[in-house]
Amino acid sequence: MNSLLIDADALQAELVSHRNYIHQNPEVGLHLPITSGYVFKTLESMGCNPQKITDSGIVAVIGKGTIDKTVLLRADMDALNIKEEADFDNKSENGNMHACGHDLHTTMLLGAAKLLKDREDELEGYVKLMFQPAEETFEGAKEMIEAGVLENPTVNAAMGIHVSTGIQFPAGGVIVPEAGPSMAGADWFKITVKGKGCHGAMPHLGVDPLNVIANIYFGLKEIISREIVALDTAVLTVGVMQGGSVNNVIPETAELRGTLRTFTEKNRGFIVQRIQEVAEGIAKTYRSEATVEFSNGTPALVNNPDSIALAKEFLSEYFGENSFVTLGKVAPGGKGMGSEDFAFVSQEVPTVQLTLGAGNSQNGCIYPLHHPKALFDESVLSKGAAVYAGYAIEWLKKNR
Ligand SMILES: [Zn+2]
Ligand SMILES: [Zn+2]
Repeated sequence: MNSLLIDADALQAELVSHRNYIHQNPEVGLHLPITSGYVFKTLESMGCNPQKITDSGIVAVIGKGTIDKTVLLRADMDALNIKEEADFDNKSENGNMHACGHDLHTTMLLGAAKLLKDREDELEGYVKLMFQPAEETFEGAKEMIEAGVLENPTVNAAMGIHVSTGIQFPAGGVIVPEAGPSMAGADWFKITVKGKGCHGAMPHLGVDPLNVIANIYFGLKEIISREIVALDTAVLTVGVMQGGSVNNVIPETAELRGTLRTFTEKNRGFIVQRIQEVAEGIAKTYRSEATVEFSNGTPALVNNPDSIALAKEFLSEYFGENSFVTLGKVAPGGKGMGSEDFAFVSQEVPTVQLTLGAGNSQNGCIYPLHHPKALFDESVLSKGAAVYAGYAIEWLKKNR
């Protein structure tokens, strides 16, 4: 057996303890003082030299010598504002939950840090570890790129892992994406309509903003069904429509909020513009005014063909030919409408994002990611650490 895998297995108990601590202290957004503090301290204890490049974004570089190539490994550290209801001894009690498995990502990358630090003299270049906050809000990767995570040393390629649970896929199995976009770009929008409040008995004296947002809702649906090429994929979901508080009063304002998901910047730009035009046009037709705001956007996550080829070769060599499947085998069309802010990195450098099975629905992990009862199989932590570290070692070998 490859010595990396033996060493990774030996780390399992330590990784479970890291994971339990991180899982019991979930934090959301850009400010993760407990989690990033723990990561910083753990990296320091391994002899790495972590740097805090944003409020909670941490970077560590492993490697020495003169070879000027750097591969980046990324883990996200943020949780969700969900009260945990999982049947798990170490569940969180603070009202937040690691329901997306980012606690596993963070732990696995800490394991990789140790495996790589122990092999620092053999590395044929540099490995940069990126521990980011705020993936769920699509703010963290962008903020770290702006703070220079891809510079000093300049990053030449990147790899990330996301775990899965609640699906029929074996724990420890790996899914390798197809070349091109694997996850959709996403944009959040909010439309505020300003009407004119009045008595519910005399609607002609006011302008009813609830009537306007109802019409905007149907107008938005027409963009996807009538204006996008039928074979392209885009999803527009309205998740909030609200306004008013009393049965017999026409309120002054109402709002509608939603998300747009696309795979190309062309469709993304077009639909963003049409949301604006449709909302403003309909509001004007009904004598009101609409303000459209976009926030928390991320482009599509794009996978590089060379990075994919290297991942397949490395996984076969280290774990056997049957250690992975390609995304096209488990997801129709080889892509999904979910989003991931590692996409910002993928737009800058050749990137691959692997999926690691961490909860098979046939073995009791029946709830999906983001569910308050979601469970994860901790036995995959050492494997995840080995996949991170092994990919970096092999990338550096093949790209000297
Ligand atoms: Zn998530
Ligand atoms: Zn996630």
